Amino acid sequence: MMLKKARMDKAIDKVFFALGTINYIKIFDFAKEDAIEKAIDRVTEIDNRMSAFKTESDLSKLSRNSGERFQNIHKDTFQLIRKAVEFSDLSNGAFDITIRPLVELWGINKKGSFVPSEIEIQEALRLVDYQDIQLDSESLSAALKNQGQALDLGGIAKGYAADEVKRILVENGIQSAMVNLGGNVITIGSRPDGQPWQVGIQNPIAPTGNYLGVLSITDKTVVTSGSNERFFIKDGIHYHHILDPRTGKPVQNSLLSVTAVCTCSTDADALTTALFILGPEKSMPLLQKFRAEAIFVTDDLTVTVTNGLIRHFKI
Ligand code: ADP
Ligand code: MG
Repeated sequence: MMLKKARMDKAIDKVFFALGTINYIKIFDFAKEDAIEKAIDRVTEIDNRMSAFKTESDLSKLSRNSGERFQNIHKDTFQLIRKAVEFSDLSNGAFDITIRPLVELWGINKKGSFVPSEIEIQEALRLVDYQDIQLDSESLSAALKNQGQALDLGGIAKGYAADEVKRILVENGIQSAMVNLGGNVITIGSRPDGQPWQVGIQNPIAPTGNYLGVLSITDKTVVTSGSNERFFIKDGIHYHHILDPRTGKPVQNSLLSVTAVCTCSTDADALTTALFILGPEKSMPLLQKFRAEAIFVTDDLTVTVTNGLIRHFKI
């Protein structure tokens, strides 16, 4: 008992803002505080390269040159874009990082309760097609085929950053850690007392911190995407930040949240966005392909847990 306490006391944690969200890193080794700083620097670097807002980011450069020329981008950005494109293929276009013009148009949580006209939606939708992303791996450059096209890595970059944080902490000898980058949880090892990590699954219709259940996991990532994070309701319709590239509108189905559990946070992040759009039935091949498990929560608070997770999930 004493030993357990002494080990728990070695916890050291940091909260920081990056990637447009609040992030949290907790490790269990006082001597390794440096590792947290290195991880935070890396997240900041990823944010600077992959932000859709920062004017000197790779994404901003790409959109400024859209329809005109190839642009050299950093290897990290290049590889993540390539991964996102693979994901688009695998999800039949449900996940599509050329979604940016639609994200701008809707401006969920930025323009109040603004619903664009059908004409505006169709205009933006014409610019959404991941097959217009051109990649040249020789020169590490990319281009967007048509003027006005732009990328948005908001559905995958937090996962990538979480994988990078884990890599850096592990390289620095950390054996036990809990990381949460704006809802992308990744863990290292087990808790210092040897028990699995406990990750609460948020009740989507209750205040933050109210859980529908708890997942016990070791060395896994848990990523949740919800339609109650950024949204507004107008004329009884719930408009939120996950957009369906087929309709140009926020996905309309009975899902309130989707959680993906696997080993790679980049995969889990892209998966949650895709699963949200595809719904539970059509998601199964994707889950199998990525050896991932999932939890689906619908608006009547029905919780569907895939087989591999049942043992690890407690209501
Ligand atoms: P969160 O940002 O809450 O973690 P997601 O991982 O699902 O949720 O990412 C949602 C973000 O991804 C949106 O804010 C937007 O920037 C972008 N996005 C929205 N719809 C799509 C889509 N169909 N494909 C790819 N990215 C999307
Ligand atoms: Mg996502």
